[in-house]
Amino acid sequence: MLNFKEYIRVVEDFPQPGIRFKDITTLLQNGEVYREAINTLKEQLSDLKIDMVAGPEARGFVIGAPLAYALGTGFVPIRKSGKLPYRSIEADYSLEYGKDKLAVHEDAIQPGQNVLIADDLLATGGTISACVELIERLGGRVVAASFLIELSYLHGREKLKDIPIHTLVTY
Ligand code: 5GP
Repeated sequence: MLNFKEYIRVVEDFPQPGIRFKDITTLLQNGEVYREAINTLKEQLSDLKIDMVAGPEARGFVIGAPLAYALGTGFVPIRKSGKLPYRSIEADYSLEYGKDKLAVHEDAIQPGQNVLIADDLLATGGTISACVELIERLGGRVVAASFLIELSYLHGREKLKDIPIHTLVTY
């Protein structure tokens, strides 16, 4: 596997002092590496039947939408509260640095569909847990979650213990 870590920039003290932000824009700028990252995430899912990919705004779109395209599935945007135009359901979540609400259209997932969740980075697992809650409330089954990056010292995996996690880079 390509050494994707080489293409990720670590920015000190963003967005708050003490946080070492993993900046994926440097990876996205490189077309070959971006494509290889999506293809590698796709290969990790080869034995799964996936009906739909869902990803939280905004960086979850950058990973989830091309992955959906590669898999030939639809894509469901999970957005911050108040952004979606149609009837939606909401879930509260807390971040490594803050709190917010995520929302999804109430008809975005059909009961029984196998859903993959995708995002750029797994930290505490708060964002992805809120996504799992929304998808399960719509009757979907979360069959896996894919990330470019896992911050293993924040133990997000433990929050998602029944869900297979795939990542390319671990800090
Ligand atoms: P969690 O909810 O797992 O604590 O945090 C993950 C979410 O926060 C992801 O949606 C991710 O985009 C964002 N996030 C937190 N820390 C970082 C970081 O260092 N780099 C990037 N790119 N995203 C981060």
